[in-house]
Amino acid sequence: MRVLILGGTTEASSLARLLANDARFEATLSLAGRTAQPASQALPTRIGGFGGIDGLVHYLKDGKIDAVVDATHPYADQMSAHALAACELVGIPLASLARAPWTRQAGDGWQDVADTEAAVIALGAVPRRVFLAIGRQELPLFAGAPQHNYLARVIDAPAETQLPPRLTLLQARGPFDLAAETTLLRDHRIDVVVSKNAGGNATYAKIEAARALGVPVVMIARPHKPAGHVVASPKETVAWLDHARRSLRGV
Ligand code: NAP
Repeated sequence: MRVLILGGTTEASSLARLLANDARFEATLSLAGRTAQPASQALPTRIGGFGGIDGLVHYLKDGKIDAVVDATHPYADQMSAHALAACELVGIPLASLARAPWTRQAGDGWQDVADTEAAVIALGAVPRRVFLAIGRQELPLFAGAPQHNYLARVIDAPAETQLPPRLTLLQARGPFDLAAETTLLRDHRIDVVVSKNAGGNATYAKIEAARALGVPVVMIARPHKPAGHVVASPKETVAWLDHARRSLRGV
């Protein structure tokens, strides 16, 4: 069975490892290409956009793909919408590997905002020392609030010139641990964290560190992410794929 995994997450890489030595499946992993040197993967990997829904439809047809697994990041809503539309057009099944969001714990000082634009406004007029843990793509939006001092953690340095004037870049790739995150927030005298609700363990330590230090978190809500059949883990995805494979073969 030919499978396309839309990846870029820890779960996608775990699924790739499960499928790599499984003779039932011939799988390819697809990455958006957001990082210059992606972590090595257990499966053959293609990198870059497909060219919208039409491009993905062509890719699925040309590659005779039998099933797609959407294991993209919780904030990659466009790719998910394209995957759902393209799978419907081609008539193949889609599973969506969803990562549970973090939930507010006692002591968390979260301010929920709808999107990154709202996070910029939520920082307020008074200058603050802000830790931006949102990746690279939306950093230019914070140029709209130049009064703050920003520490932005990214994997690759952003190319954009429209960045906030008081911005320090910290290049690092997760996972991050609690001791290091606590030290980071302390050393930089951070008084507010801006985060996406990524879920999972790899980047949760900053939320725990903020809780321990009494630092508020501006939490950007997840976008609506269109989904096919929802699966909760890489292992459950393999079971779903096997079911789809049996249906395909009529057994
Ligand atoms: P997106 O807005 O859903 O996708 C934008 C376009 O990128 C898609 O239409 C598609 O291009 C291409 N794309 C996305 N994922 C792909 C994949 N796995 N394989 C091939 N092409 C892919 O997603 P995004 O721009 O990558 O990210 C949106 C937000 O998600 C970011 O702000 C970031 O916070 C978060 N995020 C993403 C990743 C990641 O690996 N993508 C990792 C961490 C965080 P075409 O239309 O040309 O097919």
